[in-house]
Amino acid sequence: MSCMQVARVLQSYLDGETDESTARRVARHVEDCRRCGLEARTFREIKHSLARGEAPDAEAVARLRSYGDALAEGGKQEPGA
Ligand SMILES: [Zn+2]
Repeated sequence: MSCMQVARVLQSYLDGETDESTARRVARHVEDCRRCGLEARTFREIKHSLARGEAPDAEAVARLRSYGDALAEGGKQEPGA
């Protein structure tokens, strides 16, 4: 599973909305991939803030946005990577 694929399903995965085989592949990827592991933690941080009725940390939101942008650019340069 590539970082691009993980980025697409990461939010659903953390919400428990992916099927079991997808969840397993994402879990394996975020363990091995430092960047996606960090983003998974960032997603969780934001979800926890929202669950507590707090505004999500602006820095976490910005980090998440730049992750998505970087992956979108990387996907253009390396199709299928
Ligand atoms: Zn990754």
